[in-house]
Amino acid sequence: MHPEPINLLGLDAPALTQLVGQWGGKPFRARQLQKWVHQRNTSCFEDMTDLARDFRAQLTEQCVVQAPTVLTQQRSSDGTRKWLFDVGQGNAIESVFIPEDDRGTLCISSQAGCNVGCRFCSTGHQGFNRNLTAAEIVGQLWWARHELLKDLDSSRLSAGEKIADTRVISNVVMMGMGEPLLNYDPVVTAVRLMLDDNAYGLSRRRVTVSTSGVVPMMDRLSQDCPVALAVSLHAPNDALRDQLVPLNKKYPLAELLAACERYLEFAPRDFITFEYVMLDGVNDSDQHAHELVDLVRRVHCKLNLIPFNPFPASGLKRSAAARIKTFSQILSDAGIVTTVRKTRGDDIDAACGQLAGEVQDRTRLSETMALKRSIPIKEVRA
Ligand code: SAH
Ligand code: SF4
Repeated sequence: MHPEPINLLGLDAPALTQLVGQWGGKPFRARQLQKWVHQRNTSCFEDMTDLARDFRAQLTEQCVVQAPTVLTQQRSSDGTRKWLFDVGQGNAIESVFIPEDDRGTLCISSQAGCNVGCRFCSTGHQGFNRNLTAAEIVGQLWWARHELLKDLDSSRLSAGEKIADTRVISNVVMMGMGEPLLNYDPVVTAVRLMLDDNAYGLSRRRVTVSTSGVVPMMDRLSQDCPVALAVSLHAPNDALRDQLVPLNKKYPLAELLAACERYLEFAPRDFITFEYVMLDGVNDSDQHAHELVDLVRRVHCKLNLIPFNPFPASGLKRSAAARIKTFSQILSDAGIVTTVRKTRGDDIDAACGQLAGEVQDRTRLSETMALKRSIPIKEVRA
């Protein structure tokens, strides 16, 4: 029986150099190969014309360049695009591309499902199946870039702009399905490839890991591969956060904020982005805003308010626009840079927290979540 082919999408530079070295190839061969794979989006080894014929034959025999299979793709009227990828055994994950005037952001998934079980998150309600491999994480970027390049004005490319130099995706955020810091090694391998000049060449400031607050892994990330960090806060006190983000019981706010301060010593940006989903009557009062100001004051941060994106049976509502405005004003008046996230891709359910994919739950989380939906959130105020 043939061993499984090696998917080159999941190998960072040292791993690829080692593989090529085993076949007697020099490190620069690995770099050439890496450019073909990630920059020129080539999956057929025979097309890699500046590689020696023997080397190409060896690659064809033992390796593949394979992104997860696309099940569906959708395009919103505002230009947002969404892909649903098959990751086997009935599981599917989603990625979303958000074009803006000055940048193009790809939001990718890190797990099939998620076992953190946040009360307001569609992924959380579905339970957890498995971690994605580094190749599946990078594969989302590889595929999206491939598709977006197809759309580019061909005259632009024929006018001499090289595919390898074209930055259709300028930013990557790990804000799709899953908790990236609970799938640490594959996520770090994938991030290294995003940063690698021979692969995607993004700067550390343009790759963001979003976490619900896995404190020990935030410390590890700061040492292994510090990139921009977003932390999902959602509540200004432990009693409320315990109900919204169950991981808070393990890593309460004081520990989380201390970890943010430690992270900042190594971070590529001089602030942490705090995300705060605006839930009507749950965490959106003036008192909550004042409490939040007191909580985050010690950390150099920006606050990103996310209007809640409803999904069937969440049992929760989005705060009214006027409430979000007042809440935001209280934070701004206290000197905290605050933005309200624009909802994009509404017509294709591509907004934060709506990425549902398809998860064959292997935990009992989806049952527990179904039960929780019937329990009202206790009001907790300052
Ligand atoms: N697990 C990571 C990253 C994925 S979620 C995390 O929790 O940070 C990305 C962001 O979307 C998080 O801030 C999350 O709280 C937010 N989110 C989840 N469900 C949402 C919903 N229904 N409406 C708005 N934002 C949501
Ligand atoms: Fe998981 Fe993030 Fe959703 Fe919470 S918000 S359930 S951590 S994906």
